[in-house]
Amino acid sequence: MTFRTRFAPSPTGPLHLGHAYSAILGHDMARAAGGEFLLRIDDLDQSRCRPEWEELIFEDLRWLGLAWDGNVRRQSEHFEHYSQTIHNLAEQGAVYPCTCSRRDIEAAASAPQEGVPAFGPDGRIYPGTCRSRAYGDRQPTDALRYDLSKTVGPPPRMPAFTETGPTHAGRHEVTAEHLLTRVGDPILARPGMAASYHFAVILDDAQSGVTHVIRGEDLFEATFVQRFLQWELGLSPPIYHHHRLIRDDTGKRLAKRDDARAIRTYRAEGATPEDIRRKIGL
Ligand code: GLU
Repeated sequence: MTFRTRFAPSPTGPLHLGHAYSAILGHDMARAAGGEFLLRIDDLDQSRCRPEWEELIFEDLRWLGLAWDGNVRRQSEHFEHYSQTIHNLAEQGAVYPCTCSRRDIEAAASAPQEGVPAFGPDGRIYPGTCRSRAYGDRQPTDALRYDLSKTVGPPPRMPAFTETGPTHAGRHEVTAEHLLTRVGDPILARPGMAASYHFAVILDDAQSGVTHVIRGEDLFEATFVQRFLQWELGLSPPIYHHHRLIRDDTGKRLAKRDDARAIRTYRAEGATPEDIRRKIGL
């Protein structure tokens, strides 16, 4: 099996030191394994993506000395495939349209119970308000969700994934119960969009033959949702490696708006790619 990984930034702002960490780690692991390093542009949310940010991603990666293999893949070129796959899944009866706004979910959420999280990787845990709605009644302004209540109970075999990152190394099983209490029914598509982040990435990774997903620790919980959806679609999972996050001086995770730690800022100040590697400990 060829080792194949990808770096998948969204062109919604400048790359910062956290992105550099992910990209360099993925690139170096691929090269060390004699494998491939792919570049994917995660431009699902067309309202936030800009061509100039995409151009800057290419420039920053080239400057860092990270050459990618093959053509760049863009999510925006696969909307039809995402929609069709959701539609096929819906024909099996577990997809429903959801009209709930963030405020609706907030209002419908039950009072917090001890030991049960109120928020998951997609925000407040969805209580299933729209579950009785039929897929056939969907409107363009609806989100689409997967009804987990239909799959609760032990499946003949449990979906699981292998994690090799420093914090959660091991094998992790995924159950519908785990997802119900930590995420709620997963979103397959947001209103006006072809697919949700979770749904698009599992299809992208499968189509590109990605064997190893290397990304930040902040996406570890999302992996449970993604593995579950892969299982439902009959896709085999890559191996996951969630790496530590690069934080600012106050311990906060870096954000796109944090221009002080943008790669372009370091470049403009005359730093070298080696300086960046040193700064992030790679
Ligand atoms: N596009 C995602 C991000 O920028 C990464 C996707 C993934 O690694 O699954 O956070």
